[in-house]
Amino acid sequence: MKSLRVGVVGAGIVGLSHAWSAARRGHRVTVFERSPRAVGASIRNFGMVWPLGQPPGTPYRLAMRSRRRWLRLAREAGVWVRRCGSLHLAYREDERDVMAEFAAAAPDLGVACRWVDAERVRSRWPVANPDGLLGALRSPTELAVNPPAAIGQIATWLHDRLGVEFRFATRIVSAQGTALRSSTGAGWDFDRIVVCGGADAADLFPDQVRAAGIRLCKLQMLATEPQPGGWRIGPHIAGGLTLRHYRSFEVCPSLEGLKRRIASETPELDQFGIHVMASQDDLGRVILGDSHEYDDQIEPFDKQRIDDLILRELRRLIRLPDWSIGRRWHGIYAKHPQQAILRDEPRPELHLRTGTGGAGMTLAFGFAEEDWDQWSQTRDDFPATPAGD
Ligand SMILES: Cc1cc2nc3c(=O)[nH]c(=O)nc-3n(C[C@H](O)[C@H](O)[C@H](O)COP(=O)(O)OP(=O)(O)OC[C@H]3O[C@@H](n4cnc5c(N)ncnc54)[C@H](O)[C@@H]3O)c2cc1C
Repeated sequence: MKSLRVGVVGAGIVGLSHAWSAARRGHRVTVFERSPRAVGASIRNFGMVWPLGQPPGTPYRLAMRSRRRWLRLAREAGVWVRRCGSLHLAYREDERDVMAEFAAAAPDLGVACRWVDAERVRSRWPVANPDGLLGALRSPTELAVNPPAAIGQIATWLHDRLGVEFRFATRIVSAQGTALRSSTGAGWDFDRIVVCGGADAADLFPDQVRAAGIRLCKLQMLATEPQPGGWRIGPHIAGGLTLRHYRSFEVCPSLEGLKRRIASETPELDQFGIHVMASQDDLGRVILGDSHEYDDQIEPFDKQRIDDLILRELRRLIRLPDWSIGRRWHGIYAKHPQQAILRDEPRPELHLRTGTGGAGMTLAFGFAEEDWDQWSQTRDDFPATPAGD
């Protein structure tokens, strides 16, 4: 196959995914990143690789393909990746109903998960608040990564191992024909260009972004100090609130009733788009979140009220040895009405790709592989790795 010159704009997870897929196929890749290092959504997230949240079928399959890539990065690039799985804890009957319905449908849907009764959850996962616990939906497929560390390591590894060239602190201001031009006036010519500008994709392609119906979404996040004595959370934790957030659960007949109950009991959660999750990084910090505020709701300053609500809901789900908060931040991603990754082709050799939802860490490698399978008419996959439990 002819070795192409490939230009990638953006060193977030979507840009890195394309750089990896292209370089593995023998292409000469240059990545342009406007900041001295990536600072977008890809370093601000939970670090949850979360196949369970993807609707069964193609999205779930792509998430599992991404998962194989993450495990490969752990082996080859030394990226910290933990096979932790996930646990949705149920405290209300409607939560239990949705989870049990999903677990019952899972084998036919090709999704690995099961219902676990309360007694077993209590004995196996002490992080779960035992008071009023009805049981949990257990999935073995989810992974934990440390986003800021992983994103930096992947870039270094792509450079050292596959010869990918990185031009940090280089802002691309135009993509015309097959040429990229930076703010200093420097220019580069490529055979294929992939623009992965994240929430700022509209800077280069305002018409495409507007036409796709993209909105901006702000999420508030917190992290505890490292937990004492090497304490580990075990699986990623979610609960009933999260069932209304991920499209995978739309197959469950009880979901609409659960949504109505939450909206009437706790409208403040819907107001700020709050559902709560917890993960733990390799340094022992527990990452807590999150909220979803859109477009005109977005302010530069974070809301204490949102942090308080996130912590209130999480304290209902989990018990941590130390709740001291060590960090607070927010991230912004572009949100497409339906798609998890925006795919637009302004010209035949120019591709716009941006994580447009809360699943870029879960899906980016799979989507990039699918693109490069198509562009180079080859399939390049790693063998499946058992999920384990
Ligand atoms: C708080 C939060 C929590 C999340 N949790 C998860 C999770 O646990 N699991 C999951 O799967 N997903 C999660 N997501 C979603 C995920 O983080 C995003 O989908 C993903 O990071 C988007 O990647 P990206 O590469 O498109 O964008 P980004 O990471 O934002 O990268 C875009 C890069 O392009 C650069 N850039 C932009 N314009 C230019 C230009 N003109 N020239 C040069 N460089 C440019 C930017 O500086 C940036 O580094 C979360 C998102 C947020 C905000």
